[in-house]
Amino acid sequence: MPRIKLIAGNWKMYKTPDQTRDFFHAFLPLVANHDRDQIVVCPSFVDLHAAIESAKGSNVAIGSQNVHWADEGAFTGETSPLVLQAIGVTHAIIGHSERRQYFGETDDTVNMRLKSALEAGFTPIVCVGEVLEEREANLTEDVLRRQCTRAFHKVSTKKADKLVVAYEPVWAIGTGKTATPQIASDAHAVIRNEAAETFGHEFASQLRILYGGSVKPENAKALMSEPEIDGALVGGASLDPKSFAAIVKY
Ligand code: PEP
Repeated sequence: MPRIKLIAGNWKMYKTPDQTRDFFHAFLPLVANHDRDQIVVCPSFVDLHAAIESAKGSNVAIGSQNVHWADEGAFTGETSPLVLQAIGVTHAIIGHSERRQYFGETDDTVNMRLKSALEAGFTPIVCVGEVLEEREANLTEDVLRRQCTRAFHKVSTKKADKLVVAYEPVWAIGTGKTATPQIASDAHAVIRNEAAETFGHEFASQLRILYGGSVKPENAKALMSEPEIDGALVGGASLDPKSFAAIVKY
């Protein structure tokens, strides 16, 4: 079965609810008849409601940028999977490098979030990727293998059904530097092998692995044409309706 591409926008900490509504007003008509790929927008938590209302009945799904591992409890500042589910969120980014870098996210907390996201029925987008020093020291493969093994720890093949992985080389995020299609393809192959070891070959052959790191309308086609690349996680270029639509339609 061919893998359907997923193009997801990560808005990070940008936009107000009004700006969110404006985005969808402009974006939805641009992608209205697009059914080749799945489209997801992941706004900040406060904008989720406006995004869900704006995208209702459209071909665009809404994801969160994080999800907590507990259903409820004394976790100030965190957001429960049940709350996200109740408002209509269907996807969740987990383990983004900015969470790992600035907010103490570890491979173990990624694993806990992944389990809770799968339990809640979300499509989790688990981010993995090496920093520049690791690439230069030839450690990319080790890093990807470690991040995947720990993220997938004690997740059953059956439960992992909706899993999506995003390869995001940290040196390419928000820097304007993009991995070449070959670099991305090689990394995706490592991730797919790791998934095969944990979940089996059949599962791995269906696993969608996205590329993220300075994807723009100008480079989307070259990246998306690689058979190993099953879509994109787009930061900066997803904030503008025209540029995100151009990426979706590459
Ligand atoms: C991201 O935030 O996941 C990302 C890939 O950002 P950018 O596209 O801006 O590099």
